[in-house]
Amino acid sequence: MTYKDLAEKIFPDIKHDISYYESKYKPRNLKEGAIVTRYAPSPTGFVHIGALLASFCSYSFAKQSEGIFYLRIEDTDTKRTVENGIELIIKDLKNFNITFDEGAVSSEKQNGEYGPYIQSQRKEIYQTFIKHLVQEGKAYPCFLSEEELNSIRERQEKYKERIGCYGKYAKYRDLEPDEAIKKIDNNEPYIIRLKSPGSFYRKIKCNDLVRKELEFPENDIDIPIMKKDGLPTYHFAHLVDDHLMRTTHVIRGDEWVSSLPIHLQLFQVFGFKAPKYAHISPLLKNDNGTIRKLSKRKDPECAVSFYHEMGIPTEAVKLYLATIINSNFEEWYLQNKDKNIEDFTFTFQKVSKSGALFDLEKLANISKTYFSRLTKDELYEQTVNYLEEFDKDFKVVFTKDENYTKAILNIEREQKKPRKDIAKYSDIKKLFAFMYDETFAPQYEDKNIDINLIINYIAKYFGATDDKNTWFNKITEFAEANGYAQMKAYKENPEKYIGHVGDICEMLRYVLTGLTQTPDLYEIMRILGKDRIQKRITNYQNLI
Ligand code: GLU
Repeated sequence: MTYKDLAEKIFPDIKHDISYYESKYKPRNLKEGAIVTRYAPSPTGFVHIGALLASFCSYSFAKQSEGIFYLRIEDTDTKRTVENGIELIIKDLKNFNITFDEGAVSSEKQNGEYGPYIQSQRKEIYQTFIKHLVQEGKAYPCFLSEEELNSIRERQEKYKERIGCYGKYAKYRDLEPDEAIKKIDNNEPYIIRLKSPGSFYRKIKCNDLVRKELEFPENDIDIPIMKKDGLPTYHFAHLVDDHLMRTTHVIRGDEWVSSLPIHLQLFQVFGFKAPKYAHISPLLKNDNGTIRKLSKRKDPECAVSFYHEMGIPTEAVKLYLATIINSNFEEWYLQNKDKNIEDFTFTFQKVSKSGALFDLEKLANISKTYFSRLTKDELYEQTVNYLEEFDKDFKVVFTKDENYTKAILNIEREQKKPRKDIAKYSDIKKLFAFMYDETFAPQYEDKNIDINLIINYIAKYFGATDDKNTWFNKITEFAEANGYAQMKAYKENPEKYIGHVGDICEMLRYVLTGLTQTPDLYEIMRILGKDRIQKRITNYQNLI
């Protein structure tokens, strides 16, 4: 009996050989340098912020090189699969404008020529490749029972040996095909293991695009490649899928770095060209002085839905992720006021090797810059969408007079140095509630305000259509006529005056808004208009 007989025994239904798939999935016809990469989640329905980072990174590298970004669903671990898992993943990423050129769309629908893109539908393909190895004597059925494996592990732990099935522990590695066939005929359960050609005492080098040159001992463990249920292990599926889907770059979390010797060995065993690897460091959190990985269990900011609920625009989250991916991004963004993320060229050289702190305060800062660059129309539209979902009452107020609201939103916006005081949509209500009669609810304190002075100013000096200069000149003139000085004169001789023009502005601000700090007073008064101003003064007199 030969290995070929053994392979037939194990896989009687596998009729193709690997050349069939080689010619079915032709090398892609893309321009030189195009990156083909993928997002390969388990369909748990949950996109972790770290996974968003990796997929955004993969997406960006594919797009900027005019390559392909595809979605592959890694569902060989059936315990982790949830209903609608695929749709939920796609929806979460779509919110961040991360879309796929190919891949799974739902459990029923897929796009692209290199599918199926759902691993549980690729059993026959994997088995073809496993059969090939068995035929060549490069993989074998292993009949070690759970008890035997446990006692091997205990022994290895006790003697501080490396854990795994290698050397003398790989009991079935050299079993003759007839012996193996006999056991199979006897219905003895087995898995398939790779007959590792590696030696622990030889080193391999690998050039990770992020971590640069890495050196490892070769893998000498006969790793499982097919489980009892006939499905491949993660390692083997990675080989087959990334080879046949013609992936050029594998961008993934650095928890996989230690598997590199196995992955490179699998490519080598088949004589396939391995993809390039880029291992991305995890996102970290400063938890009261302790730096640790962001955790799905402990940190609400891990779920990408968190940002949506907080009212932080997806674009701002992406800007922050871009600063994490490439250290030179932020400077570029600050210097290029009219550019978007898509205009930036990411490089692997600038991807940080060490984990990045994910800091919500830093995110808020970036978000403020993002908001400051929106036009009033963009901000209006986005805020309406947010309010529709999260604050319907305020939406009614906000949309009652579109022009009024846009004028408010445009205070110190659409100018060279716009204000940066909005980090999330909900800040807009906090910032501007005082501008709307419905939400204007001042809690005045007695602040020694000369209300007659204010009434006088409004009646005789204030012109609702005055430009800023006229407004300023008039209020200065009024101040001087009433014993208040210009700032400079006041500073020189404070005792000669009741106060300065700034004091009048403060009084006005307080009466009209109920606040001591607001954006530009001139703008506020212009937008409020004379009627509203007068009503607010009367209201003040009634309340105080
Ligand atoms: N399914 C693996 C994971 O979720 C994918 C790793 C990879 O990108 O190769 O971590």
